[in-house]
Amino acid sequence: MFTERVAPLKPEGAYAVLDRANELEAQGRKILHLEIGQPDFPTFPNIRQAGIRAIQNGATRYTSPAGMPALRQTIADYTSERLGLDLGPERVVVGPGAKPGLFFPTLALVSPGDEVIYPDPGFPTYEAMIRVAGGVPVPIPLREEKQFSFDLDVFDRKVSDRTKMIVLNSPANPTGGVIPLEDLRHIAAKALAYGCWVLSDEIYGHLAYDGLVVSSIATMPEMLDRTVICDGFSKTYAMTGWRLGYMIMPPALAERIELLLTHSIGCTAAFTQIAGIEALTGPQDRIGEVVTEYQRRRDFVVAGLNAIPGVTCQTPQGAFYVFPNVKSFGLTSKEIARRLLDEAGVAVLAGSDFGAGGEGYLRLCYATSIEVLKESLEKMGGWFKAIK
Ligand code: PMP
Repeated sequence: MFTERVAPLKPEGAYAVLDRANELEAQGRKILHLEIGQPDFPTFPNIRQAGIRAIQNGATRYTSPAGMPALRQTIADYTSERLGLDLGPERVVVGPGAKPGLFFPTLALVSPGDEVIYPDPGFPTYEAMIRVAGGVPVPIPLREEKQFSFDLDVFDRKVSDRTKMIVLNSPANPTGGVIPLEDLRHIAAKALAYGCWVLSDEIYGHLAYDGLVVSSIATMPEMLDRTVICDGFSKTYAMTGWRLGYMIMPPALAERIELLLTHSIGCTAAFTQIAGIEALTGPQDRIGEVVTEYQRRRDFVVAGLNAIPGVTCQTPQGAFYVFPNVKSFGLTSKEIARRLLDEAGVAVLAGSDFGAGGEGYLRLCYATSIEVLKESLEKMGGWFKAIK
């Protein structure tokens, strides 16, 4: 009945767990939420005010499909400064969230039968968008001990002239890993050798810890014209529900993406875009405060997980996720996640929701209060002890 494009689509694990958690809450159970990946802080006040003012000033009509010229220019200037590049607004396309910055470039670049390399475990949208485009998904396992970066031996075996695109995500969902610079150089060299595109999902690029500045593959020699950077406001500025993101790419591709947007979403909400200008041009100090707070929570949750016998957890350098290894319990990660929710009241995701390579791990989002994290760790510790 349905096309091959939609038949393989599956729900995102996070939403399925959230539904079950809400169901349990409706029955009167107390649930600790570590499943959904979004900041617990509200959108910064100056950005909220800019959005309200924009609605009051009548910014409630269509805009250009690729985004308001003022926002495209602001993003070009901001990203040029951040990456040390010289980018014009013609390279910038705005969309409702970062997800369009993954989906539309894939539709524009991947033809049926083209292979696309992506991380496993990785954000589930990657496999979904590759399949909708008719591409062949080529998952690459990650190395836990190397910040969950690609296993480069496997990568080298899989990359070939059939590879049309390589999807990177650093810092990553679900692992929090940051791709080391030498790995980025290695991947860039292969992309150049085989003439493939790189889709670099940098949505967590601003959330890095221990003073780390995350590098973009787009800054490497000759890479700018074969890279699409996908970025947005959801995570950095706590704007998940505003739906605002952007992509940076060569101008000819940007024109194609603009046409796809014209015929699909039309445009992104005008007042949201005006709030986005405020986000990038207003004071940035709140980001530093938030990053300091996330780092405190990361350290707390990593120490707490490693104190549970049988659980081991790396210290991720970015995003707001930890990806503890629970292989020693001999249960599938789906089973563990289901029972942690039902029996301990802690909502976490199974690593296998992010691909076969995530089996044996859980994903916890620590963008929540230390109190919630403390109680969750106690409950999890008790549960793991009881089943050992
Ligand atoms: N990429 C990654 C890796 C993500 O984790 C998310 C959000 N969960 C997105 C893209 C999508 O972001 P947005 O909500 O802005 O569309």
